[in-house]
Amino acid sequence: MTARADALAALITGASSGLGAEFARQFAEQGHHLILVARDAGRLSAAASALERDYGVTVEVLPADLTDDGGVAAVVERLSDASRPVDVLVNNAGIGLLHPFEKNSIEEEKLHLRLHVQTTMELCHAALQLMLERGSGRIINVASVAAFATRGTYSAAKSWELSFSRWANLAYGPSGVKITALCPGFTHTEFHERMGLDKTAMPRWMWLDARRVVRDGLADNERGKGVSIPSLRYKAVVTATRFLPARFTGGPPRRPLAGN
Ligand code: NAP
Repeated sequence: MTARADALAALITGASSGLGAEFARQFAEQGHHLILVARDAGRLSAAASALERDYGVTVEVLPADLTDDGGVAAVVERLSDASRPVDVLVNNAGIGLLHPFEKNSIEEEKLHLRLHVQTTMELCHAALQLMLERGSGRIINVASVAAFATRGTYSAAKSWELSFSRWANLAYGPSGVKITALCPGFTHTEFHERMGLDKTAMPRWMWLDARRVVRDGLADNERGKGVSIPSLRYKAVVTATRFLPARFTGGPPRRPLAGN
């Protein structure tokens, strides 16, 4: 496929693996241009070359650590460039912490909060300026079903993304900017290995495929939905969390990989 005349420009954070890489692939498949953000410049460049070759789109690479003021400022600058407007922002970069709150260092907790909450807020704020001026734009904040659960500071951070997106979609939808919190359940990516978690501890029915998660998120955002929960099984899980006491919504137990 070659780039289309009405091609959009989509900026995706955490585009070097997992859901972010799949967002990039699906946007490229539709003929849209990309700006890929993550820390690993080598992986981003390899992904960019493959996407340009396979789909004939242009791909910019913007290596940045989104827990760092300088890294966030570089992405804000790109989002604020009126000569090269960004039509779609996907706030997807994320990490999990293996240990319970009190066992993590406060530095680890601060970086985790920064990446999921403060960076998401800063990039949304920057993107909205031009999107509102132009009367159109799309933002997808990758939250989690954990936003509806009681699963430590990860749930707390993802709840912020959920609540913010729900409100922002109501506030800015009428001005042409659609904002969605995408809330996947357990999805096959690098997330759990990076955390040092043993994936076999979670039952097989709980696992989703990244292609399906991204497809549902994009479709729900296009429809103007403030919240997207891929799959019937996780819609049922989220409904159940509304009725269950908080002590029952912590999810399956965690089993660290050997050596962690
Ligand atoms: P993944 O495969 O580990 O990808 C995470 C991405 O985030 C990578 O591209 C990583 O790239 C980037 N990243 C991490 N720290 C960063 C930093 N400081 N600055 C810039 N980029 C950073 O995991 P994933 O599952 O696709 O995760 C994507 C999102 O989905 C996360 O927000 C996660 O919370 C959410 N989510 C995942 C699941 C799941 O089961 N997988 C379920 C619900 C929600 P670099 O290492 O190159 O920086």
